[in-house]
Amino acid sequence: MSQITIALSKGRIFEETTPLLEAAGIVPLEAPESSRKLILPTNRDDVRLIIVRATDVPTYVQNGAADLGIAGKDVLYEHDGSGLYQPLDLKIAKCKMMVAVREGFDYFGSVRSGARLKVATKYVKTAREHFANKGMHVDLIKLYGSMELAPLVGLADAIVDLVSTGGTLRANHLVAVEDVMPISSRLVVNQASLKLKHAKIQPIIDSFAAVVAQQD
Ligand code: ATP
Ligand code: MG
Repeated sequence: MSQITIALSKGRIFEETTPLLEAAGIVPLEAPESSRKLILPTNRDDVRLIIVRATDVPTYVQNGAADLGIAGKDVLYEHDGSGLYQPLDLKIAKCKMMVAVREGFDYFGSVRSGARLKVATKYVKTAREHFANKGMHVDLIKLYGSMELAPLVGLADAIVDLVSTGGTLRANHLVAVEDVMPISSRLVVNQASLKLKHAKIQPIIDSFAAVVAQQD
């Protein structure tokens, strides 16, 4: 019996994935928030979940350590996608990648004057492409989290980060000035798994697709 391994990250992706899994007849036997286990069994003997960092999901799937995974477009865009099949936008964990600056900072004036901005972000590749497409020269500063802090302490003029309600920006006296791209999470599938375990994987993809289609 072939085993199917699905890579998920804790938090919002796990939560928003639960209804999709249920539609595919997959129910985790433990919650990742309360369990310390990184391999979670499900009601199906042939399906297990592994809990990894959001940014590591593509790596597990690419290498075949997981057959399927769910990852944000932000993560997938930064990651080299070879060997990854992306059949479905799951339309979960929706937000926007945006450029934000301190309140009162004249972003558009700086852009017009050709000033070289310092931009802090976790999304270096995406940010580099965004500013290159606008013909802007920026100095990118790689951070791993709490990007909102960077403009407040003079590390950067701007950040590129994910925004949903804008609450975190407001709390830190930042304002969003530009859209980079809309973000949602996608299903990623190991290409070899899809061939070798097609009979098990295709029905899971189809069940997810049916749930997504209902939402439109
Ligand atoms: P960690 O919190 O462990 O450092 P992370 O920040 O990548 O990792 P999450 O915050 O759970 O983990 O984000 C996981 C994914 O959820 C992101 O890659 C993105 O696609 C999506 N996401 C992040 N922030 C938001 C948000 N505010 N609203 C909706 N979706 C979001
Ligand atoms: Mg986070």
